[in-house]
Amino acid sequence: MSEFDYDLFVIGAGSGGVRAARTAAATGARVAVAEDRYLGGTCVNVGCVPKKLYSYAAHFHDAFEDSTGFGWSFSEAPRFDWAALRDNKIEEIKRLNGIYGRLLDNAGVTLLNARAKILDAHRVQAGDQTISAEKILVATGGWPWVPDFPGNEYVLDSNQIFDLDHFPKRFLALGGGYISVEFASIFNGLGSEAHLVYRGELFLRGFDREVREFTRDEMQKKGVNLHFETNIESIEKVEGGLRVSLTNGETLEVDAVLAATGRKPHLAGLGLDDMDIELNPNGTLRVNERYETSIPSILALGDVTGGPELTPVALAEAMHMVQHHFGDATPRPLNYDNIATAVFCHPNIGTVGLSEEEARERFEQVRIYTADFRAMKHTLSGSEERCLMKLVVDDASDRVVGAHMVGEEAGEVIQGIAIAVRAGLTKTDFDATVGIHPTGAEEFVTMRSITRR
Ligand code: NDP
Repeated sequence: MSEFDYDLFVIGAGSGGVRAARTAAATGARVAVAEDRYLGGTCVNVGCVPKKLYSYAAHFHDAFEDSTGFGWSFSEAPRFDWAALRDNKIEEIKRLNGIYGRLLDNAGVTLLNARAKILDAHRVQAGDQTISAEKILVATGGWPWVPDFPGNEYVLDSNQIFDLDHFPKRFLALGGGYISVEFASIFNGLGSEAHLVYRGELFLRGFDREVREFTRDEMQKKGVNLHFETNIESIEKVEGGLRVSLTNGETLEVDAVLAATGRKPHLAGLGLDDMDIELNPNGTLRVNERYETSIPSILALGDVTGGPELTPVALAEAMHMVQHHFGDATPRPLNYDNIATAVFCHPNIGTVGLSEEEARERFEQVRIYTADFRAMKHTLSGSEERCLMKLVVDDASDRVVGAHMVGEEAGEVIQGIAIAVRAGLTKTDFDATVGIHPTGAEEFVTMRSITRR
């Protein structure tokens, strides 16, 4: 009989924590999870899932407009009801919360509705109980961070934006990352006058330059007001809204401001301040490839460790961690290269592998293939939306080292291409693949002319 109450005590029932708990329990480990907020974490409650539902809602705007070229007409202009969307979303999230609870229950995991504090390497305080565990997993994720400026108390963060009482007719997103471009697109599509304010010269730093420029042009065409090389200086409450003063001297009046300025590890109150645990320079928990912190019985994974802040990464880390600590064979370290990702701005971005700029730094010579076209659908819809597809090839090996798309359902398309890129397939393999006609995606296997070297 073990000297501990549990083999694994998980703090946080988000994507990584729940997957770790269930997978560990399936090996026969005795597992408990402490969570005092919602089951499913950021992704299910205030991230990927509600964001994607809102993005679907926003896409109907274009769909209604596009449909007239295909013969549809309406006796009245379509109207959007924010409360209906919000409340349907709330019901769906409740359903998912229930599924998460049942998943844990069916796996034999004990769920404690409590805030947990780590007391030492093997003990946790959860509510009024002190519990011992051979291993403690910190899977507490991240929390939105808002910069300091006069009036920042008026901004909403990405936890608060989903459940607004009133629809913001004028909306401003601050930041140039995933959340800002996604929400600027969403509110624009839902009918707001949408503004995006970013301090740099072009948003989505780190993505392929051509993808960023193409996305800028497409978002502008759809009506998003982009303000680059400026920042919020202050916000004042005025009658009927918020007056936002920008550092370039401009002022904007809006109804809601979303600060999408990054996230910080959610470590407050965990008790780690009193323990000599190593942190990365950005304040996230430092872990080794077994997901052990500097105190080896305390493990950590997901957003709290500062890797790519993506649900599928936390899930993969959870399964790796369980193999390391509860499996019979040591797995190879998780490979963080070629993780595909999508940004659900409108149109969507899908990307895997290296940007053109990164490939030029890494390889002596690269070949770039691009297709920039109007999708077949828009020949009748009348929409000016264009689609970009791009392959980045290492000339010496002929391997496709990057694939990028901006266009309808780019994430769906790139997910398939990501398998090929990860497998190290060559441009010759892409060319030898017979396309599916008529699709947009077939461009990925029919790009024969080199755009540039
Ligand atoms: P990001 O880190 O992606 O972007 C933060 C943005 O805020 C950057 O543009 C940054 O500018 C800017 N910024 C930072 N500090 C300030 C400041 N003081 N004043 C003004 N601007 C500032 O964070 P997000 O909040 O957008 O998203 C967090 C993470 O969540 C993402 O990185 C992503 O991993 C994940 N996510 C994934 C999604 C998906 O998979 N589709 C969707 C949403 C989120 P600069 O570039 O100059 O540093």
